[in-house]
Amino acid sequence: MGKEVTGNRTNFHSHSLFCDGKAPLEEFVKSAVEAGFTAYGVSSHAPLPFKTSWNMEQSEVPAYLREADRLKEAYRGRIALYTGLEIDYLNEAWNPASDYFRQLPLDYRIGSVHLVYTPEGEVVDTDTGAENFRKLTDSHFGGSLEAVVGAYFDASLRLVERGGFDFIGHPNKIAFNAETYRPGVTRELWYKAHVGRLFEALKENRIMVEVNTKSYLTRGCFFPDESLFGCLKELELPVVVNSDAHRSELVNAGRQEALQALKKNGIRSVMELEAGRWVAKEIS
Ligand SMILES: [Zn+2]
Ligand SMILES: [Zn+2]
Repeated sequence: MGKEVTGNRTNFHSHSLFCDGKAPLEEFVKSAVEAGFTAYGVSSHAPLPFKTSWNMEQSEVPAYLREADRLKEAYRGRIALYTGLEIDYLNEAWNPASDYFRQLPLDYRIGSVHLVYTPEGEVVDTDTGAENFRKLTDSHFGGSLEAVVGAYFDASLRLVERGGFDFIGHPNKIAFNAETYRPGVTRELWYKAHVGRLFEALKENRIMVEVNTKSYLTRGCFFPDESLFGCLKELELPVVVNSDAHRSELVNAGRQEALQALKKNGIRSVMELEAGRWVAKEIS
């Protein structure tokens, strides 16, 4: 099978064995080279102040940075590699604007929300299976979808207001679980108001928006979903298209579909790192 010659062969959101990815970092780089990528960014889940099954521990960060540096050298001339982190907004003390993250020698940073606080002050993960999401909404938020969605968007808004990162990872990812909990909810006015406020804040704070294709093959949607691409266009928000690959064979999964969907919605370029700077590249 020959390589398909299309442009925009880049990805700046990916995982590996340093966090919850399923292969060593180098396997992802090899896959990207094989797929004809010009640039590839690694972005392990950044440390949190407690253990989870999916984030990297602070003690592992030096080894992560060293391995990313080694690969940059080893693959020089074949692919441009960039070192990033996907940093959670946890609270006002732990987020991409924290000193710890600001002083790390990174090429770029992703800001994401996965976790929210329950009314009792417990941390729960909204980026979970639909069944788990139903359980946590019922047991921790008294069955109030408004409360859990509100907590998610409040955290997203604070993430954006605090800054310290280049693009927001998978905005409105809670939509899938919320829709499963109550079909049609994302078309309700209060829900749309949350999304609208977040997009306005992204514009105001000059933060790029990821179109995340991780779930395209399995769930048939992007984050944010295609229904919001018109808003991205209207607000002229710069877009980065990423596969958020956790498996090395999926480095390009869903990306072409997202690029074509963006084009269909009137968005003609996407942001890519080139020689260390974010530049707008026409969608080919
Ligand atoms: Zn994420
Ligand atoms: Zn991710």
